[in-house]
Amino acid sequence: MRVTIIINMRDGVDERKIRVAGRLILEGKLVAFPTETVYGLGADALNENAVRRIFEAKGRPPDNPLIIHIADLKDLKKVAASIPREAEMLAKKFWPGPLTLVLPKSEKVPYVTTGGLDTVAVRMPAHPVALALIRASTPVAAPSANISGRPSPTLAEHVVDDFYGKIEAIIDGGPTWVGVESTVLDLTSERPTLLRPGGLPLEEIERVIGEVEVHPAVKGKKVDLAKAPGMKYRHYSPKTPVVVVEGNPEKRLEKIRELVEERRSQGLRVGVMATARVDADEFYFLGSTPEEVARNLFKALRTLDKSGVDVIIAEGIEEEGLGLAVMNRLRKAAGYRVIRV
Ligand code: AMP
Ligand code: MG
Repeated sequence: MRVTIIINMRDGVDERKIRVAGRLILEGKLVAFPTETVYGLGADALNENAVRRIFEAKGRPPDNPLIIHIADLKDLKKVAASIPREAEMLAKKFWPGPLTLVLPKSEKVPYVTTGGLDTVAVRMPAHPVALALIRASTPVAAPSANISGRPSPTLAEHVVDDFYGKIEAIIDGGPTWVGVESTVLDLTSERPTLLRPGGLPLEEIERVIGEVEVHPAVKGKKVDLAKAPGMKYRHYSPKTPVVVVEGNPEKRLEKIRELVEERRSQGLRVGVMATARVDADEFYFLGSTPEEVARNLFKALRTLDKSGVDVIIAEGIEEEGLGLAVMNRLRKAAGYRVIRV
């Protein structure tokens, strides 16, 4: 057991507290902090031993690379060996924001951070607390602050559930507002390639650099997983089984109501997360726009999981804008148990 200090910053950046948290990072300690996407589990990205502790605490496989968070474009030069024109254009347009760029790594970045790869993933988060923490310390490596495989945390309470007593500090900055992790774009292959859909819609990236290739693993295809870092691991899974219902909006709600009746007649307690009211043992309203659904997604999974239902039925949405990221997370959470209507 370690002593975990909870640092309250719900009312905004407190420079005195940030200095304390920044010092912890510089001492090689683990500090969870809010970003606009989800909470991150941070450590000094250039300190091998500190980064190793992230993997241990999360139970994360060592070949699943981390994202380095920076607060200043100067630091991009520190962690990347070269910066292609597309990276400059995208950084200028979307940073700070939920876009991660994969670039050739510099010698300063240890292989522990990149999961053994010669490339490095970098982003500048848009949350004022995250930016202040990085400025008070150093580039910070931070995966989502959840035990590996569990839904990502969008509230400090979620981080407390997974890491209390295991890390040195948790900064509580209230709920995150994007709700899904960053979009990951590889700029080291022949053509810009989407490795993970996320908080910045693909359509917006294409408006700046033209057509982007979508990695086959993103489409759920079986691929040579050795070449697709981070894609081979099951993600976002609650302990309760999840079923996703996709397709035409009216039909899918009808199907969900039918499934609820069916499962309840089998004596099961059913939880539903959907964009319209459905009678069930537990119900979580996801919101009515893709942005709201993205914001509520992980909290809905965690809340229904804790409620003790036997099965979670989740409504799928259209794969446009943030819908692409939502459906990528939801299908994984369901272990690809998907019903199409
Ligand atoms: P997480 O920090 O949990 O959101 O996961 C970070 C994800 O970013 C990984 O699982 C990969 O999908 C991706 N990633 C990080 N670094 C690299 C890299 N060097 N090359 C390709 N993908 C990366
Ligand atoms: Mg993660």
